[in-house]
Amino acid sequence: MDNITALGGDVYEIDTRMAGYAGITAGYLILGDRPCLVETGTSTSAPVVRDALASLGVGPDDLATVVVTHIHLDHAGGVGDIAEFFPQAQIVVHEKGARHLADPSRLMASARMVWGDRLDTLFGELSPTESERIVALGDTGAIDLGNGRTLSSHYSPGHAKHHVGLVDSATGDLYVGDAAGVYLPQTGDLRPATPPPDFDLQTALDSIALFQALGPQRLLFSHYGPVGAVQETLERSAEELRVWVDLTKQAHQEGMDLDHAVAMVRDRTRERYTALKSDDETAEQFELLSGAPSNVAGILHWLNKVSP
Ligand SMILES: [Zn+2]
Repeated sequence: MDNITALGGDVYEIDTRMAGYAGITAGYLILGDRPCLVETGTSTSAPVVRDALASLGVGPDDLATVVVTHIHLDHAGGVGDIAEFFPQAQIVVHEKGARHLADPSRLMASARMVWGDRLDTLFGELSPTESERIVALGDTGAIDLGNGRTLSSHYSPGHAKHHVGLVDSATGDLYVGDAAGVYLPQTGDLRPATPPPDFDLQTALDSIALFQALGPQRLLFSHYGPVGAVQETLERSAEELRVWVDLTKQAHQEGMDLDHAVAMVRDRTRERYTALKSDDETAEQFELLSGAPSNVAGILHWLNKVSP
């Protein structure tokens, strides 16, 4: 299938075709005695992911584990559907996200407030998972991949308070979720992902420092794909956060409202990203993934909390 890329070490990147787009949101399959899916993508992507797994030889009773880095709908919106397609799979998530997978009603209500009618086309509806099948992670945890291989989880809040990074013992891959920002392989651009309501600068920087300390061999971005230049990229992740926070702070101090703050930050960061100079489609992709309105709103929300 043309949406599957072999990354070596029995790891496969699956383009979930989020909202019909290519190259927006990846899921990853780690094959082995206990096949594990990292990130489901959205609910509307679930059939795409199921078919990709089938073509890799993972049938309904074969998937051992599904793990999500956090419960935002682009990463975990398909959990309920995937759980139904693969009835033997355990669903692994940080303990702060577990109850939302069992009962998505509050999560869906707040997502609908943010996205309105676009919710249905972008994400679809997260359906509930039986709580007996959910395994909640603490600050650290381990997923058995079979044959002595493990995926260890590391609590990494900042982007979301229920975010974990995952390290594969066999490959040294680190699944960064959204904690290191959003990477665009076509251009090599990296932008922060600082949405409301959980964003917190120091917490986010601490999580990036934790990722550096873990010494991974490769980063696997959910948006989007593998990156080999680990330390350089994580340094860039931290720098991006500081740039966006500094500019948003200026806007905040000057008393700008959200629209003016977004326009100012967008304008003054534009030169940093090749994507915004290239064709409209690439620029649009970037905006969908870590849009300036969402990033600035998240930083302002945090600033209002720490210095109202
Ligand atoms: Zn995301």
